[in-house]
Order: sequence, then C-alpha cells, then structure tokens
Amino acid sequence: MDFQLTESQRSLQRLAHDFAEREIRPIAREQDKIADPQERFPWDVVEKGGEVGLRTLALPEEMGGAGADILTLCLVGEELAWGDLGIAVTFDQTWKISHLFERLTNEEQRARYLPAFLEDNRFHLAVGMTEPNAGSDNIIPYSSPDAGARTTAVRDGDDWVVNGMKHFISNGGIAKLYFVALRTDTSKGVSEGLTYFIATPDLPGFSIGRIHDKMGQRLSQNAELIFDDCRIPETNRVTPVGGAMEARKRFVRGSNIEAAATVLGTARAAYEDALEYGRNRVQGGKPIIEHQAVGFMLSDCFIEYEASRRLLHYAAWTAGQGGLYDPKMGFMTKVYVSEAAYRIATRALEVWGGMGYMTESPMEKYLRDATSFLHSDGTNQAMRIRTMPFL
Ligand SMILES: Cc1cc2nc3c(=O)[nH]c(=O)nc-3n(C[C@H](O)[C@H](O)[C@H](O)COP(=O)(O)OP(=O)(O)OC[C@H]3O[C@@H](n4cnc5c(N)ncnc54)[C@H](O)[C@@H]3O)c2cc1C
Repeated sequence: MDFQLTESQRSLQRLAHDFAEREIRPIAREQDKIADPQERFPWDVVEKGGEVGLRTLALPEEMGGAGADILTLCLVGEELAWGDLGIAVTFDQTWKISHLFERLTNEEQRARYLPAFLEDNRFHLAVGMTEPNAGSDNIIPYSSPDAGARTTAVRDGDDWVVNGMKHFISNGGIAKLYFVALRTDTSKGVSEGLTYFIATPDLPGFSIGRIHDKMGQRLSQNAELIFDDCRIPETNRVTPVGGAMEARKRFVRGSNIEAAATVLGTARAAYEDALEYGRNRVQGGKPIIEHQAVGFMLSDCFIEYEASRRLLHYAAWTAGQGGLYDPKMGFMTKVYVSEAAYRIATRALEVWGGMGYMTESPMEKYLRDATSFLHSDGTNQAMRIRTMPFL
C-alpha cells in the first residue's frame, strides 16, 4: 500500500489552498450575510476559479480538462471548502456532472456543448432529480409507479414534451447545461421509468423558478427548474429510454465521496480556528487549551478529522479502481464524514464559548455550513438504508 500523494495531487491541493486563502476567505463571511440569494452568488470568485482551471478539473484531458481522479477532486474540494463550502460545492457539482457528460454523451452531443463549456468560465453544470413530492423515493430502492420523480417526458415526433418541476437543484439558475431525470414511462417505477436528458436554458418552456434561500452553504445557488410544455429534442437524450437509474448506478461513483470531502474542509477550518482560540483565550489563570475539558474537545475534533480523511481517501481511491469499487463505500463515507464534520463544527463552536454563538465570530457559519450534507446528496437515513448489507 502506498499512502503518498503524487506530486501532481500535492500541487493541485496547494493551488486550491492558495486560491481559498487569497480569493475566497477574504469575501466569504461578508458575502454569506447578503439576504438575496441571487445577489449573494459570488460570480467574481467563481469566474476566477475557472480561470485557474478549477471548473474543468474533472473532465478528461482528451476532452480538454485536467483529468483529475476522484482522490484529487477530494483534495481540491477540501481546500476550497476550507475557504467556503458553497463555493466548493459550486465547483464540485460541475465536477460530478462532468463525469456524466464524459460517460453518457455521444460525439454529436459533445460537438454541440463541449467547446462552449471549455471556453466560458460562467458555464457550470447541474443535475435535476429531486421534486417537491419525490426526494428519497429517487434514492432508496423503492420502485413503484406511484413513487419518485413525476416530471414527465412524452414522445412527440422528434421531441419529448416535458411538464413538471424539479427543486433544490444545486447550480440551478447559474448552470448552462442540466442533466434532468424525466419520467418516460408512468407505468413503471423509477428503476425503469426514468431517462436522462440534457436541458439548456434556451429551450422554450424551460425556466428557473424560485431561487431557494438556505441556512448554510449560502454561496452556492439552489433553484427550481420549471418545465411547461418544454420540447426537448430526442437528440438531447443521453441514456437509453428508462435507463437513468442504471446509468446513475454505473457512473456516479464519486458523488457521495466528493460531497464528503467538501464538508470535511469546513470542519477543518472550524477546528483550526478553535485551536487558535484555545491557545489565546485565558480563563482560570491559563490558556483554555490547557484545561483538560477544552483539550479533550480539541483532541476529539482532531481524531474525527483524521479518521474521516483516511476513510475518504481510501473510498476515493477505490472509486478509481474499477472492479474494487462498492457503492456502499460511497454511502457510508458520506454518512460518517458528514456527521463527523457536524460534530467537529459543534465542538469547535463550544471551544469559543459564548463568542462562538455570536455572528461576529466565524464559528456559527461553520456550523450552519456543516449541517448541509446531513441532507444533501441524499439524506443520511437514505444512505444508511443503501448501506444495509442485505440490500
Ligand atoms: C443543499 C442541497 C442541495 C441539493 N442539491 C440537489 C441537486 O443538485 N439535485 C437534486 O436532484 N437534488 C438536490 N437536493 C435534494 C436532495 O437530494 C433531497 O433533499 C434529498 O434526497 C431528500 O429528499 P427530500 O428533501 O424530499 O426529503 P424526504 O425524502 O421527504 O425525506 C424526509 C425525511 O424522511 C426520511 N425518509 C424518506 N423516505 C424514507 C424511507 N423510505 N425510509 C426511511 N426514511 C425515509 C428522510 O431520510 C428524511 O429524514 C439538494 C438538497 C439540499 C439540501
């Protein structure tokens, strides 16, 4: 076994860390306070990230990207989220969907979309599965015609006529290309009744609805996608009819792992700030870090951070090893790391005492951000169900 990172992984990790320190940290806390979610979106920083190559990191080199593997994406995602979780998620979402783009699109579709994607630093990607009445039913293996996504696509000549709504979609409203899972057969459950299509904002009948406001991860944007007699050409279909879930099972291998890596970056930032505060805050005649009660909280943060990082790196490595990969590895990693990150952020806030609770301190934002991955990318309950050894 070789636990060393490669030189290229270390250099991308450094690049991301420097970017987070120079461009993200100086604006993140103030930007987080902007009330309007659209005004809040940090386009300047996101564009600069594109300029240094972050946006196209996951696309293979032969398609014009950097060909980063899942472990590299985890390293970069952690550093960006050390700066701000929402900005990390904006890039990570594009990385995840780059994998779908690479594996699902045909030559003609690539010729149509790839040049614009490579050139435009405002070209991000999104995936639309969740709907107001269909969340966990798309994730937990419960496949009944009455459950799961209901946005329908009905074949009409060379097009599919689409009606319905997706919600909570990360990069919604900022993306220029969406992979959307549509119900092409209402007599079947999600396992055979959903098909992936590409939707672009120029399609008549496709619009962005509400931009959601969020408790944490506020520098990423989530929105509703509305389809009102929207005609999506047959040439935009990217899986066999009924094949969306099979494609997801086969090709979305890094998703949960990358998600976990980002929230771990938030936890590390919280831990570092708690350590610093513990060294400088004096109570009872000495720095509080020297009181065992505080020292133990910091030790627990460190233990959980290190254990999470090792699990995460192993999971990311297996995702690149073909037959070695077991999807349960991704589900359990997301559960363990997101909950560890939440506990780390909670303890770190406690180290700051009452000041940790004040919005003038950085700690409350870490905690708000750390809550997001308990629900996002599938709830942890859904992940636990998928991890059950007998399923
Ligand atoms: C920040 C954020 C970003 C997101 N980004 C995207 C995105 O880009 N694209 C996308 O498609 N979706 C996205 N989502 C949606 C996300 O995947 C869903 O919120 C999630 O799958 C849960 O669905 P739900 O919200 O409808 O909750 P529900 O499914 O209604 O769940 C409610 C509660 O019931 C539990 N539950 C539900 N069913 C069962 C069951 N059968 N057995 C036991 N317990 C159950 C759940 O675990 C949860 O505790 C995002 C969500 C968030 C918060």
